[in-house]
Amino acid sequence: MPATSPRFRHYSESDLCPRTAGDTGNPPNGHAPRPPLPWDPMKLTWQRITAHTKYPFRIARAGSSVGGDGSTVERIIVSIAHGGTVGLGEAAPTPYYRQSLDSVEQTLAQAAPHLGDDPADVDAIIDRLLEHFDDQRATVAAIDMALHDWLGKSRQQPVWSILGLDPTQTPPTSMTIGLDSLELLERKVADAADFAILKIKVGTGRDVETLTALRSLAPHQRIRVDANCGWPPESIGERMREIARFGLELVEQPTSTGALEAVRAARAHARVPLVADEDSVRPADVPALAGVYDGVNIKLSKCGGLREALRMIDLAREHNLKIMLGCMVETSLGVAAAAQIASLADYVDLDGHLLLADDPFTGLGLRDGVVTPGDGPGLGVTPCPQP
Ligand SMILES: [Mg+2]
Repeated sequence: MPATSPRFRHYSESDLCPRTAGDTGNPPNGHAPRPPLPWDPMKLTWQRITAHTKYPFRIARAGSSVGGDGSTVERIIVSIAHGGTVGLGEAAPTPYYRQSLDSVEQTLAQAAPHLGDDPADVDAIIDRLLEHFDDQRATVAAIDMALHDWLGKSRQQPVWSILGLDPTQTPPTSMTIGLDSLELLERKVADAADFAILKIKVGTGRDVETLTALRSLAPHQRIRVDANCGWPPESIGERMREIARFGLELVEQPTSTGALEAVRAARAHARVPLVADEDSVRPADVPALAGVYDGVNIKLSKCGGLREALRMIDLAREHNLKIMLGCMVETSLGVAAAAQIASLADYVDLDGHLLLADDPFTGLGLRDGVVTPGDGPGLGVTPCPQP
């Protein structure tokens, strides 16, 4: 059985700023350390946490953000403190994107000098970080989230309000069903009965069998399909024809990345929209996807946080691409960050926290299948009380 509480590994400033021998960190006269002042540098700290999935999570390709047997999720919670206010963010590193817990911690250890002393200057901070850590965008995303959380808490405003967005316009989320046996599929579909949209992972030789079973279990729900690069490029058209009869809402990342001509050719015959996920990592990827895909799946941990996601949304709109807003399997801290901008999406897939048995954060809402950010300041979530 999974543990019921996350395992925290604490880091403190002493890990980042080694002290000399005999240095206690307190002033020599015995007074307590002075409180932080607004012009002090930001304090960046982090903790590893472990959570567990309700069901083992599997997809078609290697390098999932959920490692091992699909039951354990390790994430890094980043904290930025400044002027008495603390902002939190989450790093969900994905091996497929050449990120790991270790690479996140190495990046964080090198990031502090690039933060400066004004957490409200988010654009400049993110630009500096991407200049140095462009391939570690899950880490940049965590810092971006923490900066936005800090900003919102400082102003006593939700981030969606600062951004001028209206969360009541947010479309409902899909609920993801990973690759599974048909027996487990039945249980998962029953669990997801309250969701109008299901997203099923395919990309194996049993796709028609899986979709036949799913359609019989869920005759009225909308179905999205995610192949996670699983179909050979030369077979996309054939696979699309095989599954068209199931009345699908969209198909996500049918084949391996970079096979754009094969996707373009298949799309000419596709009856459902094709959405890029692994092909759509960062803003620079978007222009080449126009005319190839119908939409792009934007995830904060792929692109580097809210600032980069908003840039991707603008670019996608310019290129007549639909917007899907997704997430990794992550806690409701990371999902809450995405929820701030979900009203801008055509398709929402923000169920990562709902796949966890022991989400360590609370405050994110779910109403009639819509993931709703809280009214609290910042990202609107707080750590669950320790049992
Ligand atoms: Mg996907």
